[in-house]
Amino acid sequence: MYLANYINGSYQAPLSQSYLPNINPALGSVYSHVPDSTAEDVEQAVIAAQNAFPLWSKTPAAERSRILLKIADLINENLEQLAKAESTDTGKPITLAKNMDIPRAAANFHFFATAILHSHTEAHHTDQTALNYTLKQPIGLVGCISPWNLPLYLFTWKIAPALAAGCCIVAKPSELTPLTAYLLGEICTKAGLPAGVLNIVQGLGNKVGQAIVAHPKIKAISFTGGTATGKHIASVAAPMFKKLSLELGGKNPTIVFADCNFEETVQTAVRAAFTNQGQICLCGSRIFIERSIYDKFKTAFIAQTQALKQGNPADSSTQIGATVSEAHYHKVLSYINLAKEEGGKILCGGTTLKVAGECENGYFIAPTVIENLPFDCRTNQEEIFGAVVTLQPFDTTEEVIQYANSTAYGLAASIWTENLRKAHQVAAQIESGVIWLNCWLLRDLRTPFGGMKQSGVGREGGWEALDFFMETKNICVKL
Ligand code: NAD
Repeated sequence: MYLANYINGSYQAPLSQSYLPNINPALGSVYSHVPDSTAEDVEQAVIAAQNAFPLWSKTPAAERSRILLKIADLINENLEQLAKAESTDTGKPITLAKNMDIPRAAANFHFFATAILHSHTEAHHTDQTALNYTLKQPIGLVGCISPWNLPLYLFTWKIAPALAAGCCIVAKPSELTPLTAYLLGEICTKAGLPAGVLNIVQGLGNKVGQAIVAHPKIKAISFTGGTATGKHIASVAAPMFKKLSLELGGKNPTIVFADCNFEETVQTAVRAAFTNQGQICLCGSRIFIERSIYDKFKTAFIAQTQALKQGNPADSSTQIGATVSEAHYHKVLSYINLAKEEGGKILCGGTTLKVAGECENGYFIAPTVIENLPFDCRTNQEEIFGAVVTLQPFDTTEEVIQYANSTAYGLAASIWTENLRKAHQVAAQIESGVIWLNCWLLRDLRTPFGGMKQSGVGREGGWEALDFFMETKNICVKL
């Protein structure tokens, strides 16, 4: 199967006619080919977006909303096909794709489609002399670049608010997971999205992504991916005074106090550690446990980790699938080796896993739990982004806050205690943009989402996402 770019409302081969192999990570074999597009394809996409912008930006909100709701409906109608595509591309369990990724992609469109029907603007009276009102207008052409871990989920998390705001888009999914974005093109056409409003250019970051970021006609870049890539993108976009939203890496703490609801905490900490093979930017990979319950927690955590069913992602009972690519598989394994070199004790996992049958060449790593590492070693400071977590005991609240805040990242944290006063006090001191008290990944799309420190700049979600894609003007009327 040869995938194509979606430019000006139709599928087009890359101008270079060259393709990259797309690998099914559970099988370890090539199953499709992704356009290896270049700056010339991006140029075609920009021209299409420019032509579409005057009409789309003036299309009434109710009409934009109607089209976006239709896209949401079509995503839901195609749930089976999209979930299968997502699972094949990423190696994630089909059940996860069906229950989380694809429904959330539909929800993203639904959320922003309805939000624009309820917007309002500000007005400021200046004594009796003037009336100021705020006019929000779509910023123009925008670039949306997304990663491989939650492909359609995160791609649409950017595209939906940009379309709702009235912008035209040049978007790039990850070259490792192009399939659902490819399928979205046809859905948009069926839903009646005018040609050129959304353009999807497939290919490599350093070619297609770079061309989008550097293009003078593109006014804003919404990027989700690694911190190093985000840094590079900022260095290209900032001197051009582009608006930037950066959602980057994480190294999130799970903080377990002795007075937590034990069963619920262990269960959720396991889910937070290993969902999507630990490849969610929000996964809790550093688990700090109050010393008095450390051994009890460790025993229960290991038992529940070992009970997770790992295997062929296409099997509906599979809970842990394959790592996304061979390169990432080796990266995660190298961190397991590093942990050993740093004195870590492997409590379970720590090895590759052979899945019999068609998956015998797949990139499987057994969920890995490690202890005996200091909070400031590399294993506990660097983002691994795989099914590898560390357990560490703590004695005091001050100590665990120091551990939690010790990394360069500040994306998410979860805190487990039945003492609500303590929970709020600790939450206020943790340097993370997203904090869950006694839960994990409980999302309300109206809330601000994003990271502090090297986890990003700006917030997605709710009005903040719509605002990002708009230019704000103050109009002052003398009375
Ligand atoms: P990545 O940075 O390698 O790639 C992300 C996207 O950027 C891809 O589409 C890639 O092709 C593109 N890209 C690469 N180089 C580029 C360049 N020079 N210019 C423009 N685009 C370029 O990240 P990844 O490996 O795909 O994803 C994993 C990372 O994403 C992890 O660090 C994870 O924490 C992070 N992430 C963050 C969030 C969040 O919301 N904060 C969510 C998911 C993933």
